[in-house]
Amino acid sequence: MDLNSPLFDRIRVKPEHREEPREDRVRCNFPACEETGEFRAPMGRLREGQYFCFCLDHVRQYNASYNYFNGMTDDAIARFQRDDLVGHRPTWSMGVNRAGRSFREDPADPKSFSDPLGLFRARSHRARPEAKQPRYGLAASRALATLGLDDSADSATIKSRYKELVKRLHPDANGGDRSSEDKLREIIRAYNHLKSVKIA
Ligand SMILES: [Zn+2]
Repeated sequence: MDLNSPLFDRIRVKPEHREEPREDRVRCNFPACEETGEFRAPMGRLREGQYFCFCLDHVRQYNASYNYFNGMTDDAIARFQRDDLVGHRPTWSMGVNRAGRSFREDPADPKSFSDPLGLFRARSHRARPEAKQPRYGLAASRALATLGLDDSADSATIKSRYKELVKRLHPDANGGDRSSEDKLREIIRAYNHLKSVKIA
């Protein structure tokens, strides 16, 4: 029997059923992402040996932003992070996003990270004042961010944003195009979470 036969390749690429959610798996560290975090991504040059776990899509996005530091000297990165700590904008040009910050948003939470290039922020997402005490927990805040909202949004705003996004992303509204389906799933998950905690 020839195991290298193209026939076997064809058998192997047979579409698989979606995996059952397992509780022991590592969840992707991207806010509100339910995929398995099977890809490790280094946290940064000054955090050697520390990793985020992301799904394939999010590790790609993260790597794209992580590469931002390529070519920077350690000095420049140290300055970048120090400036970030004291809340100052770096004095030198940051390129795309002037409000660039270190990847870790909350030093107490190893899984939090900020988004220097705005790559995770495809939706219009207003910057929140840093010192403000968050109104909701992390999960709810992330769900709100997924809908492009912050914690000032009331139930009516959340509902209307949700309807608008579902309408916009639904395959039926895009001539059957299913490319926005993952996004739509993420939106629905976020909204269901907000409903379950009585915010929406
Ligand atoms: Zn993910």
